[in-house]
Amino acid sequence: MLHSESIPRIRITEVRVHQLTGRLKERFGWSQNWTHERHATLVEVVTDAGLTGWGDGGYGGDWLAENPELVIGRSPFEVEAIHEELRAPGGFQQRPRAQTHGGLDIALWDLVGQALGLPVSALLGRRYRDRVQPYCTALYRKDWTDLAAGLAEEAKSWKAAGFRAIKMKTGYGPEVDVEIVFAVRNALGAETGLAIDSNCAYDAGTAAMIGKRLEPFDLLWWEEPVLASDYEGYRRLRNSFSIPLAAGEYLPADLLAEQFVQSRLVDILQPDIETTGMTGARRLTWLTWLNHMRLIPHNWGSAVRTAAELHWAATIPPIAEGLYSPPVMFEFDLTENPFREAVVREKLEMGPDGLIPVPDGPGLGIHVVREAVEEFRKNLIVIC
Ligand SMILES: [Mg+2]
Repeated sequence: MLHSESIPRIRITEVRVHQLTGRLKERFGWSQNWTHERHATLVEVVTDAGLTGWGDGGYGGDWLAENPELVIGRSPFEVEAIHEELRAPGGFQQRPRAQTHGGLDIALWDLVGQALGLPVSALLGRRYRDRVQPYCTALYRKDWTDLAAGLAEEAKSWKAAGFRAIKMKTGYGPEVDVEIVFAVRNALGAETGLAIDSNCAYDAGTAAMIGKRLEPFDLLWWEEPVLASDYEGYRRLRNSFSIPLAAGEYLPADLLAEQFVQSRLVDILQPDIETTGMTGARRLTWLTWLNHMRLIPHNWGSAVRTAAELHWAATIPPIAEGLYSPPVMFEFDLTENPFREAVVREKLEMGPDGLIPVPDGPGLGIHVVREAVEEFRKNLIVIC
């Protein structure tokens, strides 16, 4: 953004990084591990104008504490310049650095929106919709004696709660995957959308074989059957079965653009705003659309991140013209997380129409609950 006399004069005086941890009542499993606690990094950006911006995501190191001049004293309206200065050139080679500033970037967009009295979605481009269609992320492995029966029962409860689409975890081996997808599809019936996510569980040869066996279950997509960086594997799988292929949550925006978008490596790109920031998210929105690729953002964090991603999802153009364009969908995480909703005053939830309203207020349109942040905070880093 350019400087001009019409831009409010605001200076960043302090950045506070709140690292949160919440212990789970019940562990849950996926193809890579068992999860016992949830983590988040909330980034609070304080200004001399009485405005405070919030973001969620990233911050893996102390680079900002060592180089405070990269942010302190600057205007939040320099968000794109700051993004470029902090963005790791070459993407993957310096990924740890690229991963660190998603939350900061979101907080700067929040501040710009607050300063101008506009929602972030209005700043990003065209706000195509005020409500987004969620899909429910749940159906992890629990300590059930019968995995298929446990997942089928849980799937019914999400359907009863009103969700039109649900994502389940797979990646437990070919036989188990086919058995549990069969059980969940039977429990849901034909009309509820079902997607699967294997979290990089397989090699391409194994995934090609499993994909053929999963074709009859009418899946919305198969997420990360193979490693994020196995580009040749994705190329092979895209021509191996009829299930739409999805990936992208681990990679920074420039690498996604180079390796996934330009070659249309997958059917659905799923960038994570923690890695791309809001700035990278906005760029990928138009890159994917211009390349005729669906965009369904990855979402795994606190309600601060949910709010940011709702603004993003509001600005994603329909992929096709016509009345029956595949919908822009929103990942709505409903696994256990003790602080996810607690840290934000507003309730970001599905309404009776099966859609989630996008916040309307300035910036992200949320109010952070400090008591909740402090309750779950394990570490605080202050940069000034
Ligand atoms: Mg995933």
